[in-house]
Amino acid sequence: MTEQLKLTGMVISSMPVGEYDKRLVLLTTQRGKITAFSRGSRRPKSAMLGATEPFAFGEFMLVPGRDAYTLVAASISNYFMELREDLEAACYGFYFLEFATYYARENIDGTPLLKLLYQTLRVLCRRMIDFKLVRRIYELKILVLEGEYPQCHSCCHCGSSENLAYFSFFSCGVVCENCRGKEHGLKRLHPSTIYTMQYIVSSPVEKLYTFTVAPEVLKDLDNVMEHYLKLHIDKPFKSLEMLDLIISPGF
Ligand SMILES: [Zn+2]
Repeated sequence: MTEQLKLTGMVISSMPVGEYDKRLVLLTTQRGKITAFSRGSRRPKSAMLGATEPFAFGEFMLVPGRDAYTLVAASISNYFMELREDLEAACYGFYFLEFATYYARENIDGTPLLKLLYQTLRVLCRRMIDFKLVRRIYELKILVLEGEYPQCHSCCHCGSSENLAYFSFFSCGVVCENCRGKEHGLKRLHPSTIYTMQYIVSSPVEKLYTFTVAPEVLKDLDNVMEHYLKLHIDKPFKSLEMLDLIISPGF
């Protein structure tokens, strides 16, 4: 008998293949990112129609193959249906999936990333805080999970944790008042922006989405994350084009 595996995870990408099939990417706790084929799930009466849509979270029964898994059954506990009724939330949600897909790895413990993604989508569904802030918190926290985050707690030059006032894209972190002459192109940050970044870096996922910030802090954070990600990610995200379109003035 073929071995079947039960994995907890979420559909983070779903692509049509052939006439009725789908190629899925799942983010799972036990095996990180995996590719799975779902045969016949695009037939109108397929029992797997909803379970193979992006955002579907639950337990997936899979048969391992040489290059990919075959999905045979699923028990979905959250479809994040609210995202289908809210265009802006959906666009953010798809971007969050694509961002997770970019960073997720195969054959690792996917629990921290899945937990972050799940929590972030819940916040979107409930419209608890400004989506722009949710986005920046999520992006920075993924960088933290991946170990590619900027140094936020001490000066990149002298190591001091006091009088931090600038951000250096070159040194990938904050710089204090005393060291401002040591480098060109520093960006001055609002003190609350530095505190916010420190909070995001060091807080557990459960406490991430419990605050809001002043508009000038969000602007700072937007600016830092925008440039930081441009320098560290060479791939354009398709979902960002749609997001940029709907959040641009005049839409
Ligand atoms: Zn310094």
